[in-house]
Amino acid sequence: MDNTENNEYDELFFNYESYLLFLNQKLTKFFDNQKEYIFCKKGCAKCCKNAEFPFSLIEIQYALYGFSLLPDDTKNIIEENLAKVLEQKKNFTGEKFLYTCPYLVNDVCSIYKYRGIICRSFGLANAVPDSSPRVPFCCFEGQNYSNVLDEKTGQLSSEKVKKLGLKANPVGYNVSYEVLTGKKFEQTFGFSFGEKKPMIEWLE
Ligand code: SF4
Ligand code: SF4
Repeated sequence: MDNTENNEYDELFFNYESYLLFLNQKLTKFFDNQKEYIFCKKGCAKCCKNAEFPFSLIEIQYALYGFSLLPDDTKNIIEENLAKVLEQKKNFTGEKFLYTCPYLVNDVCSIYKYRGIICRSFGLANAVPDSSPRVPFCCFEGQNYSNVLDEKTGQLSSEKVKKLGLKANPVGYNVSYEVLTGKKFEQTFGFSFGEKKPMIEWLE
C-alpha cells in the first residue's frame, strides 16, 4: 500500500473503525453476559445462509476492502459463490430473496474482520418493549437460548432457567440492525453509514 492508498483508507474507515471497536466491546460484553445461553462456534454458519443481510454503504466498502486482501484462490471461490447467488436471484420470482452469503467459504467467514454489523450482533436476543426478548431463529434449531426454550409455547421458560441453576433469565438487548446503524453513532463517531440495502444488491 503506498501513502496515497493509506490516506484513502484512513479517510474512509478511520472513524468507522472507532465505531466498530466500540461496538465490538459492547457486543463482547453482551455475549459474555449471556454465555450460558450462547452456542455459537466456528463452523456453525446457519446465520450466514438463507438471509437478506442488510448492509450499508460503508459496510460493503469495508467488506470489499477485506476481500481485496484475500489470496487469489479464496477470491475465486467467493466469485463463484457470488455468480451462483446472482443466478438464483435472476430466476427468483418471490418477494424476499434469501441466499447464502458469498463470503462464506467452507462454512467460515472469509472476511471476518471486515464483516457487517448484522454479522457481529446476530445470535443475541433482542429487546422487545413490554415483552420477553426475541430470540434468534437458531434457538429453534437447538442453538442459542435453546436450553431455556419451552418447545410447547415457543417462549423462553423461567422454569428451565431455574432447573438449569442459571443465575438470571436471558436478557434482550437493543441490538437490532436499525438501532446499531442509527444516526447517533454517525454523529458520535463522525462517519456516515450511507444507503442500506441487502448485501447482494451491492454486489450485482
Ligand atoms: S447465531 Fe446461531 S446460527 Fe449463528 S453461529 Fe451462533 S449458533 Fe450458529
Ligand atoms: S460477511 Fe461473513 S459473517 Fe457476515 S454473513 Fe457473510 S460469511 Fe457470514
